[in-house]
Amino acid sequence: MAGSVSAIWNCDPRDMARSLDKCLGESLEKFGRAKVFFRADDIAAPSQNFSRLMGLFRDNKTPLCLAVVPAWMSHTRWEALGKIAGDDASLWCWHQHGWRHRNHEATGKKQEFGPSRTREAVARDLALGRDRLESVLGNQFYPFFTPPWNRCGSHTLAVLEDMGYSGVSRSKGALPTSDTLPDLFVNVDLHTRREKDGGKDFQAFFHEFSQALETGCCGVMIHHQLMNETAFDFLEVLLQALGTEKKLDLIAFNAFE
Ligand SMILES: [Zn+2]
Repeated sequence: MAGSVSAIWNCDPRDMARSLDKCLGESLEKFGRAKVFFRADDIAAPSQNFSRLMGLFRDNKTPLCLAVVPAWMSHTRWEALGKIAGDDASLWCWHQHGWRHRNHEATGKKQEFGPSRTREAVARDLALGRDRLESVLGNQFYPFFTPPWNRCGSHTLAVLEDMGYSGVSRSKGALPTSDTLPDLFVNVDLHTRREKDGGKDFQAFFHEFSQALETGCCGVMIHHQLMNETAFDFLEVLLQALGTEKKLDLIAFNAFE
């Protein structure tokens, strides 16, 4: 995806580590237990940043949900990703991120599977995406759906349910909702932050993070293409801190009940 590094990642990493300690300490006093999952979007091409990302999760034995864009995936790429991912397949939850990651809405917010599309068009593209991932990823594909731009319409929810998907992952508060398909939404955004003032965003980020922990389920969205050194340093500190906290369960979509 196109974009640049968010201003928050020009902050001093030592300040970030101190604030994380404080935030975790205060939040942990308020809640009993919380589940935490990490979701990395726009997965398909191997890259240096992708290797670093996977290395961090592997070293910290933390599960990661990987949202794969089916149209960008090939057998060659999958072979390369598999080498980077390493032997412990149990850490990774490879699932579907749209079909081509194309916007189909003429106005308003971007959506690939939004309300302007017919049920037939949605069903065809969802099936194309699933078929591609099943044929390339084999039994490592998990039937779970992250719509591009974190939103989708009611046809999409209905078709996913018909197709036997386990759930969707959108943004907190995304509409429409489904009565039956669970939405394991993200409520913390690490790398697509829009605030121009990094200092102000720093405060906003920790507020977002505490609030997410206090709800009992914290979903963290990652865009590895937009990570710089500070972003990698912070993610490492974050994974180490969360991994040693007994009140937290670090899991992927396939481990939710
Ligand atoms: Zn995306």
